[in-house]
Amino acid sequence: MPRLSEVIAALDALWPPERAEGWDAVGTVCGDPGAEVGRVLFAVDPVQEIADEALKLGADLIVTHHPLYLRGTTTVAAGHFKGRVVHTLIKHDIALHVAHTNADTADPGVSDALAGALDLRVVRPLVPDPSDPSGRRGLGRVCELDHPTTLGEFAARAAAALPATAQGIRVAGDPEAPVRTVAVSGGSGDSLFDAVRASGADVFLTADLRHHPVSEVVQHGPLGLVDAAHWATEWPWCEQAAAQLDEISDRHGWDLRVHVSKTVTDPWSAHHTSPSIDGAPN
Ligand SMILES: [Zn+2]
Repeated sequence: MPRLSEVIAALDALWPPERAEGWDAVGTVCGDPGAEVGRVLFAVDPVQEIADEALKLGADLIVTHHPLYLRGTTTVAAGHFKGRVVHTLIKHDIALHVAHTNADTADPGVSDALAGALDLRVVRPLVPDPSDPSGRRGLGRVCELDHPTTLGEFAARAAAALPATAQGIRVAGDPEAPVRTVAVSGGSGDSLFDAVRASGADVFLTADLRHHPVSEVVQHGPLGLVDAAHWATEWPWCEQAAAQLDEISDRHGWDLRVHVSKTVTDPWSAHHTSPSIDGAPN
């Protein structure tokens, strides 16, 4: 069995921590570098349900996309929910490692996995990383459809392809509008509207879109917007990352057991469709 330090070195080669944004907090949160690793669990969020799942599974390492402590802390006391996660992990010798914005911009990265879930053909990054001579790394992806469709049909495809959440899929724009070029960005994508417009995309698939930016895009026309749950847009990365680690494990003869959590950790837990959306507000 490999040591944690060896597995982390392999993960750091996939998602070099120095490529994370300056504000980000990536890397190993807890874990003994000399401990042996036999079982790994990939998940989006380092929350208690995932720590409990790792414990039940007998995992030695959890790899999450989101950081546990993004802004630092002065306490890991178990009275706080984050401290409780730390206590659960350390008590049971489970390490936690985070790959966040360094996984977003990687090749393949979070948005490649999102595009892959919908069977989209990736053409280029939406915002290329200028330090990458191959032009493959960067934020978001621009994709082409081999068979053009409509915004309504594309949204239905996203709803069917992404893991189910209470939110489902929200759509802004004319459902009959033709779609050939698609921009995707896993996670919050509303800082990327300028790049999306410049890309010539017919639709932008992302998460966490807000009233005013969406209203402006719709007024500006004809770009369509497809907004999925943040968790759902990033979950496909877990499967992609697990497959990458599986391949590394085979190459090194590590015999790692690699799992992907199917626990929905999107914080939104229910969605009620309004009885009628035709009338005025009650
Ligand atoms: Zn995210």
